[in-house]
Amino acid sequence: MDAADMGKDLEKVLISEDELQAKIKELAAQIDADYSGKDLLLVGVLKGAVMVVADLARALHLAVQTDWMAVSSYGAGTKSSGVVRILKDLDTDITGRHVLIVEDIIDSGLTLSWLLDNLKSRNPASLEICTALRKPDAIKVPIAVKYVGFDIPNEFVIGYGLDYAERYRNLPFIGTLAPHVYSGS
Ligand code: 5GP
Ligand code: MG
Ligand code: MG
Repeated sequence: MDAADMGKDLEKVLISEDELQAKIKELAAQIDADYSGKDLLLVGVLKGAVMVVADLARALHLAVQTDWMAVSSYGAGTKSSGVVRILKDLDTDITGRHVLIVEDIIDSGLTLSWLLDNLKSRNPASLEICTALRKPDAIKVPIAVKYVGFDIPNEFVIGYGLDYAERYRNLPFIGTLAPHVYSGS
């Protein structure tokens, strides 16, 4: 699939590359200030948060460490069930560490809520969340999120790490898909 084909699959650009990059720099400045003098571990949730972690880590002046977790929601269908399985655990012992979970998007919040409980039980010194996107109308469990890039409408979005059937993750912006992609015609 070349760039022109990808363009045909797009309905609209919701957040441009420039807007995303400016927001990442804003979040990084807040995080730099909040964790000044502290030893911070960024925990990226695979695969969607890869772009966010890569950009955020480079925008930070703090010398952070990075680690990754991969989790999968159990259950049939496309909706998150809240029952989660760890596909890849952290390599790092987070006991006594300042941990910042980095997410691509918070939709129902069920996956993240489970992850929070799981990481809390490992007794980190602190545990906060940074997400590029959040859908306030889709949330099912209230979660205190310290750093939010953009609140967006309850629509399915792609790009900047987010996929549809494992495609479009490499788009540098956030967009919505044209209906013909879903219907397969
Ligand atoms: P939650 O447990 O918050 O419902 O699910 C979060 C996960 O669902 C995200 O990490 C992401 O993988 C997926 N997801 C939720 N909303 C969207 C969306 O609009 N687009 C894409 N591509 N994935 C989404
Ligand atoms: Mg995610
Ligand atoms: Mg996905």
